[in-house]
Amino acid sequence: MASTSSLPALDASRLSISLTETPFPIPTGKTTTKAHTDHLLIVSWTSTQGWSAPQIVPYRPLSLPPTASVLHYATSCYEGTKLYRGYDGKLRVFRLLDNCRRMKDSATRASMPAPDPNELSKLVKELCRVEGPRWLPSETSKGKFLYIRPTIIGIDADLALHVAKEVLLYVVLVTWPENANSPTAIGDKETLPGFKLWASPEDSVRAWPGGTGNHKVSANYGPALKAHSEAEKNGFDQVLWLHGTDRMVTEAGGSNFFVIWKTKDGVLELVTAPLDSGLILPGITRRSILELARTRFNITSKWELDGRTVLATAVNVEEKDFMIVDLIEASEDGRLLAVFVAGTANFVRPVTEINVHSHSIHIDYDAIPHAALLRKWLADMMYGIEESQWTEVIND
Ligand SMILES: *Cc1c(COP(=O)(O)O)cnc(C)c1O
Repeated sequence: MASTSSLPALDASRLSISLTETPFPIPTGKTTTKAHTDHLLIVSWTSTQGWSAPQIVPYRPLSLPPTASVLHYATSCYEGTKLYRGYDGKLRVFRLLDNCRRMKDSATRASMPAPDPNELSKLVKELCRVEGPRWLPSETSKGKFLYIRPTIIGIDADLALHVAKEVLLYVVLVTWPENANSPTAIGDKETLPGFKLWASPEDSVRAWPGGTGNHKVSANYGPALKAHSEAEKNGFDQVLWLHGTDRMVTEAGGSNFFVIWKTKDGVLELVTAPLDSGLILPGITRRSILELARTRFNITSKWELDGRTVLATAVNVEEKDFMIVDLIEASEDGRLLAVFVAGTANFVRPVTEINVHSHSIHIDYDAIPHAALLRKWLADMMYGIEESQWTEVIND
């Protein structure tokens, strides 16, 4: 590894594009499945050759040896973000460079070569530019999006347990069934039903100090499915991961977790778990919500929401540890005003019930407007209704 610095770095200017001659049918009407688009962005890396020239090629399956490192040792990490077709007909990405920076951190944690975030961002935007016109036509796709999934996998075939000497980085775009996860879903109980969360069982943890919970490495996700399927079997949507014997609240499924409550001293507070424990995935939606809440909820103000004027009381924004008993107590005292989860996949979603070992906490859907406002502000930026430094237009 000593000489890697002299090897070719990831370089978007070396991109070649080979367009398909047999485009895939575009799903029409209401579909329930995800479909990939026509092309794939792919780059390889080896410890002796560095990064290859990136390619956008017609979509194709990967061919891997059955002994490939990723299939045995989970040498893999990924990202998730979205490409939005605005109401003004323009394509936008939201804080894409932050995703690319996180990809670099995840790759480093999984002992894989870290792609330069700026170059990766340029390459993702090129793929979006290629797929935009056909998969999100500007006239007919306003308010729609594609999901962007960059992935890095180790492909060494020697079955030895060592740091990957060969990797593939690839990016696919997929269509997403239109449902309540769309940022444009109108925020009422029918179209945007609240999530029901199932507290993780005591014998199951998602992340631990010194582990990988704060990185998007693939090894975090498969093992969490056992608790997730238990939640689903019981009629719940996601697992709320509690940590340690004091049952600290961390995050929910693939989303960060937020509470708005009144403290015992009567202060209105928006709380989410802090990042310093290393247990929490540093969500870009999470960061955006904290930044918006700190600047817009610092004083009590009136806002427009779905054609009416609402009053949002000022809130203190806190990143701090809290326990599930704090939630139960706040609920019993009538101080628990709103709970929601936030992440790219589920966007901003109210939580209406939390089951903690057969005890249920119920939360009012719309006692206060804060979560609905945060949701609207972010969606307005993504779809070009509000100009924002967090979005970037892609000319397709
Ligand atoms: C991806 C992810 C999130 C959300 O991150 P965003 O950048 O907001 O999409 C939250 N928690 C976990 C565990 C995740 O994997």
